[in-house]
Amino acid sequence: MSFISYQGLLKKLGDAKPSYKELLLTVEWRAFRERIIDRDNITCQKCKIKAYPSSGTDRYYTKMDPNEYEQLLKERTEEIKKNPFIDLLPEMEGGFHIKNNLPYPANEIDVEIHVHHTYYVLNNLPWEYDTGSLITVCSDCHKAIHKNEIIYVYRDKQLSSSVKLISCTKCEGTGYLPAYDYFENGICFACGGSGSLNLEING
Ligand SMILES: [Zn+2]
Ligand SMILES: [Zn+2]
Ligand SMILES: [Zn+2]
Repeated sequence: MSFISYQGLLKKLGDAKPSYKELLLTVEWRAFRERIIDRDNITCQKCKIKAYPSSGTDRYYTKMDPNEYEQLLKERTEEIKKNPFIDLLPEMEGGFHIKNNLPYPANEIDVEIHVHHTYYVLNNLPWEYDTGSLITVCSDCHKAIHKNEIIYVYRDKQLSSSVKLISCTKCEGTGYLPAYDYFENGICFACGGSGSLNLEING
């Protein structure tokens, strides 16, 4: 995935206003997003799940608790002893490794890492916020936030008047569609990645 600078985008668009989605594909947003994720030590600020970058990709993975994982390996060894033809494939979608000549699920589970705006300001660029107002979350917690919390959209930078954010029904307010991760970083096509149906950004 290659990203364009904000200035480059404006130049390319001429008189047209950039869409929220185009803004999320800029170098500026990517850098700002990285800063938040780094600050939070790639850890979901809600459930505290710690993620690791998958080298050479935009993806992240998490690891099972080492004790839990050891326990799983023990259980698998017992199961395989009893039934050598047991189908372990469904568990191994995330990859596997060989131990004692037997395949085991790898201790690496894909996790989606999002950066959540705790509020929005109309017409602000996605990176025109105090870093303190954004948090790193996993996709499950991100969905929960948009389901359970009211996110305000302020009409001006003084944060004087606001409306409630209406969540996009397609991505449940997260702005991402994991099934489309291969395409434009999974940015939701219904809301352009704003996660909202009433957030208009005029660039
Ligand atoms: Zn979480
Ligand atoms: Zn959010
Ligand atoms: Zn959406």
